[in-house]
Amino acid sequence: MASTSSSARPVKLAIVGGGAAGMFAAAVAAERHIPCVLIERKARLGSKVLMTANGRCNFTKDISPDDFLRDVGECSKWVAQAVRECPPRQIIKGFKSLNVQLRRMPDGRMFPADGKSATIVHAFGDLLRDESVPILTNCPVTGVVQSQDGGFVVKTANFDIVAENVLLATGGVSYPKTGSVGDGQNFARALGHKLVPYRPGLIGLETSDRRITSLAGRRFEDGRAKVMDETGRTVFDYRGEVDCESFGLSGAAIYNSQRYIEHANMKDYSIEVWFAHERLTFRNLKPRPVKEAIVTIGGVSLDDVDPRTMESRKVKGLYFAGEVLDIDGPTGGYNLTLAFATARKAVASLRNGAMSCASAMPASRHIRAAWNSPDGACDTI
Ligand SMILES: Cc1cc2nc3c(=O)[nH]c(=O)nc-3n(C[C@H](O)[C@H](O)[C@H](O)COP(=O)(O)OP(=O)(O)OC[C@H]3O[C@@H](n4cnc5c(N)ncnc54)[C@H](O)[C@@H]3O)c2cc1C
Repeated sequence: MASTSSSARPVKLAIVGGGAAGMFAAAVAAERHIPCVLIERKARLGSKVLMTANGRCNFTKDISPDDFLRDVGECSKWVAQAVRECPPRQIIKGFKSLNVQLRRMPDGRMFPADGKSATIVHAFGDLLRDESVPILTNCPVTGVVQSQDGGFVVKTANFDIVAENVLLATGGVSYPKTGSVGDGQNFARALGHKLVPYRPGLIGLETSDRRITSLAGRRFEDGRAKVMDETGRTVFDYRGEVDCESFGLSGAAIYNSQRYIEHANMKDYSIEVWFAHERLTFRNLKPRPVKEAIVTIGGVSLDDVDPRTMESRKVKGLYFAGEVLDIDGPTGGYNLTLAFATARKAVASLRNGAMSCASAMPASRHIRAAWNSPDGACDTI
C-alpha cells in the first residue's frame, strides 16, 4: 500500500464566525480563489442575519458613500476606505448577480423582495456551496494562537486548524443566542489588543409612564424624537417610527436617539417623543440591556487595527471585520453594510493572498466578481 507523507498544509485563511461579515468574507475569498475555511459556532450560518428587520433583512441603504458615511457618524473616518471600496451599490449589485430579487423603499432601504432574511442567507450558502468553500458548523472556536512559523493555530474542542491568516468575524455581544458572545474580543485581548467596553446601541428606553405602557404593541410610523442637552438645546432630531412597549419606547426614532445619547456619553438629557397627537418629554431614560441591543458599541479598539487593511497592528496576519470591532451605525441597513464592507476590505488586503491562487485554478472554473470589482462601480437597480 502506498504511504502518504503527512505535512499539515495550512489553509490560507481561517474565518472565525459565520455571520454577516464571515459569510461575506468567505464569498469574497471564493470569488478571488483564496482557499479558506468558514468556522461557525451554531448549527447554521447567519443566525443573527435571519433576525434582522423582523426577519426581513434590511441589508443596506441605497445612498451614496458620502451620505452613508455622514449618517454613520462616530467611526465614519475609520471605515471610510472600506465603505468607498464596497459601497451600498456594490452590495446591491452583488446580490442581484446572485439572482436575489430586491425591493427598494422610498428612503433607499434595501430588502430582499420576498421579505425574507433567509433569502439573503441562502444566497451566501448557495455561493459558498457552488465555490466548494469548506464550512464547519456546530464548531465553536476556543482559541487562536500564533504559531512559531508566523501563522496561527485555530483551536476547537476536537481539533486544530493551521492557518496562514485568521479573520475574526465573531460579532458583538447582543442576542447571545445567535452565537455572538464576545469570543473574538477575548481572543483579540489574549493576543494583546485593547477592548473598548461594551454598551448597548440602537435599543429601547425604559419608562413606566402609563401614557406609553398602556399603548404597548402600538407602532407609530410618523413619529419623531428629539434629544436635548442639559441646557435644553436640541442636539439630535430624528423623524421615524416610535413604538410603545410594555417596558417603554422603541422604534427607529428612539433607537437612533439612544445611539446618539450613548456616543455623546450624555448623563443629563431630555428626550421629546412625538407620536400620534402626543408630544411627551422624558428625562434620563435608562436603556435596555446590551444583550437586547441591535448593535454593540465597543469591542476591539480601532487603535489596534489598520483601517487600510483591517489587519491587526499587533499581530501580522490577524484581521477583523464586523461588529467584533468598535464600529456601529444607525438603524436602516448601516450595520450589515459595515460588516460586509469591512469583511471585503480584510480579504482584499490579505497578505500574499488576493488573486494569487487564481492561476492554480482550472481555467474552466467560473469566476464570480460580484463583490470584487475594484472601483465599486455598478449599474443602477
Ligand atoms: C434584532 C436585530 C435586528 C437587526 N436588524 C438589522 C437590519 O435590519 N439591518 C442591519 O444593517 N443590521 C441589523 N442588525 C445588526 C446586524 O445584524 C449586525 O450588525 C451584523 O449581523 C453584524 O455582523 P457580524 O458578522 O459582525 O456578526 P454576527 O452576524 O453576529 O455573526 C457573528 C457570528 O460569529 C459566530 N461566532 C461567535 N463566536 C464564535 C466562535 N467562538 N466560534 C465560531 N463562531 C463564532 C456567531 O455564532 C455568529 O454567527 C440587527 C441586529 C439585531 C440583533
